[in-house]
Amino acid sequence: MAQSADAASEVLTLPGFERAAPPEPLPAAATRPFVPPTVQAVTLHAHLPQDLPTLRDLIRDCRLCTLCKTRTQTVFADGKPTARLLLVGEAPGRDEDLQGLPFVGRAGQLLNKMLAAINLAREDVYICNVLKCRPPDNRTPMPDEVERCSPYLEQQIALVKPVLIGALGLSAAQALLKTKASMASMRGRRFEYRGIPLIATYHPAALLRNPGLKRDAWVDLQAIRDFLRDAGAREAGAAADGAAEGQAAAAPADSAARSAS
Ligand code: SF4
Repeated sequence: MAQSADAASEVLTLPGFERAAPPEPLPAAATRPFVPPTVQAVTLHAHLPQDLPTLRDLIRDCRLCTLCKTRTQTVFADGKPTARLLLVGEAPGRDEDLQGLPFVGRAGQLLNKMLAAINLAREDVYICNVLKCRPPDNRTPMPDEVERCSPYLEQQIALVKPVLIGALGLSAAQALLKTKASMASMRGRRFEYRGIPLIATYHPAALLRNPGLKRDAWVDLQAIRDFLRDAGAREAGAAADGAAEGQAAAAPADSAARSAS
């Protein structure tokens, strides 16, 4: 049964995103506009490694910007290399810098709860940041740092080939969409990053600082959940159509072979 808006928001006024709202029924295709992802638009950088493990190794020694001097280690990614949902944050924080993994610590724990609220496990998604090294005191990334590090993120996206990108926080959304727009103006809309649909929402750290934003974040999470569900339904439908066409094409050949034997 569909859950009311009040009931959904009540979930998020609880300590976190611990309780997932029941999935809502799949809307009729005719009532929901769908922009098919054109993943082919994302192309690999020829000058960078063509697989994720080698790219990780390359980045480990990167010295393209001054953040290499203050980092403990680079933070490449976590999660599933073939994930349908790719989440991008801003940059490693203190815990990430120490552990070498993105979205750990309190913000990471909240992200896990946010994913659980839409029936996803952390292992189901691919998680990375715009910057691979921690800015001192967690300051906002400088434009030249974003520019130098972005090809790595672009390569990650091209290798993972997600169905949907979730930009977590203003810095990630602005870096991916090459815009100075506010989060308020980007929320609630669907963008494209090189042909891949993109939804922007708040970074979990922002939700920790301002729990009042959780209501909006829940709306965004539902949009992500719905998009993945609709895309999955269409992928299944396309696969079934393809199988039926294959059987139909094979039938006359089988018939001819039997006649000839
Ligand atoms: S932030 Fe990116 S560009 Fe700068 S040193 Fe780290 S990996 Fe290299």
